[in-house]
Amino acid sequence: LKPLIIRSPETFREKQNIDARVRHRITAIDLKKQTVRDEDLETGKSFEEAFDLLLIATGASPVLPKIPGINAQGVYTLSTLQSGIAIRAAVDQKPPRRVVLVGGGYIGLEMAENFVYRGIQVTVIESASQVMNTIDADMAVLLADELRKNGVELFLDESLQGFDLQEEEVRAVVTDRRTLPADLVVMGLGVRPNTILAQEAGIPIGVTGGIKVNEKMQTEISGVWSAGNCTESFHLVSRRPVAFALGTIANKQGRIAGINMAGGSASFPGIVGTAMVKVFGLEVARTGLQEREARQAGISFAGSKIEARTRAGYYPGAGIIHVKILFEPKSRRLLGGQIVGREGSGKRIDVLATALHAGMTVEEMINLDLGYSPPFSPAWDPILIACRQAAGQV
Ligand SMILES: Cc1cc2nc3c(=O)[nH]c(=O)nc-3n(C[C@H](O)[C@H](O)[C@H](O)COP(=O)(O)OP(=O)(O)OC[C@H]3O[C@@H](n4cnc5c(N)ncnc54)[C@H](O)[C@@H]3O)c2cc1C
Repeated sequence: LKPLIIRSPETFREKQNIDARVRHRITAIDLKKQTVRDEDLETGKSFEEAFDLLLIATGASPVLPKIPGINAQGVYTLSTLQSGIAIRAAVDQKPPRRVVLVGGGYIGLEMAENFVYRGIQVTVIESASQVMNTIDADMAVLLADELRKNGVELFLDESLQGFDLQEEEVRAVVTDRRTLPADLVVMGLGVRPNTILAQEAGIPIGVTGGIKVNEKMQTEISGVWSAGNCTESFHLVSRRPVAFALGTIANKQGRIAGINMAGGSASFPGIVGTAMVKVFGLEVARTGLQEREARQAGISFAGSKIEARTRAGYYPGAGIIHVKILFEPKSRRLLGGQIVGREGSGKRIDVLATALHAGMTVEEMINLDLGYSPPFSPAWDPILIACRQAAGQV
């Protein structure tokens, strides 16, 4: 476990002179008095702590339906290191024969892969008609095929209704179509910004449910800052606020807030919504707007989708890569991209993400000087082939 913990409270204390207190919960913020109420979870004692500046970084909480059995033994979420440890301990102690994963997002799919590797029969149920609703349906189909090929039972358009319990322990998952026997269930229905503390203190929340901040990561209350999954981001393509619960964004926001709170000056311009995941032998990545998001933002779009190879076709290990890009027909600007393919596919998304930050058109992208050598890429990188097709230059 140690390698998963990058910095311990002791390191914070000894190396950085930061009083990092674990097992302490803040139960209230008093903005007028500039104090927080700190509850020591070991002793049960609670006391007031004064502040000059305050950073709220309370993260996000898993979305859970209020249905009987949701707190039963054997029903888990995976949102913290502790919850991961609990699932692993349960699997080690009494290996389950059947696991049901509720939700086909990245948590559900990553869990599916790992349970299969442990020889456990896995079922995923998803209420939408596709897995990974952050990519378009035509790309998600490739992912569903990969799951099924690897023995995962996948039920789409099917929603959770409840659980069958035996002595408070889960025995089956009941959907609107069937009953699925289960020794262990993991709920992966997404997360929402954890803003209860901020809301109770009267710190303004944005339309996404995340804490509203400016480019400096400052809330609308003087002296109060916010960063990470509890905080809104500005989407540089849709020009709208979004709540994106990713570590890569949380890290950058935290850094900017820290610099500013310490008297420096830094800005966080916004995000383009880049995310990636590996599911069995497939790498899946997305950035910018998918079709649904473009529609919601009222931006007209056209698409270009290609299938190519990750390396020169004759080079050993060349695998299939699918690239889809969306662009605005009139301005020609890139709106977003999605990649599904074999090893060497996923990180290509960074080219598209960078192009989005730069506001490039698909025609401008065609001549990007990207690297080529047979072990890494065909002479025309798959991203560029997608851009050429978008520009009608194939
Ligand atoms: C299984 C899993 C895999 C992931 N994989 C990726 C990935 O591959 N790439 C990626 O970019 N992101 C990934 N993420 C997301 C990433 O972990 C989060 O986006 C990131 O941890 C958010 O950081 P944060 O500091 O905003 O919130 P958190 O890391 O959630 O930290 C918030 C902390 O605040 C504490 N807290 C909350 N309320 C209070 C209170 N009242 N008093 C005191 N403490 C409080 C919480 O206990 C928590 O420790 C993954 C997440 C999970 C669960």
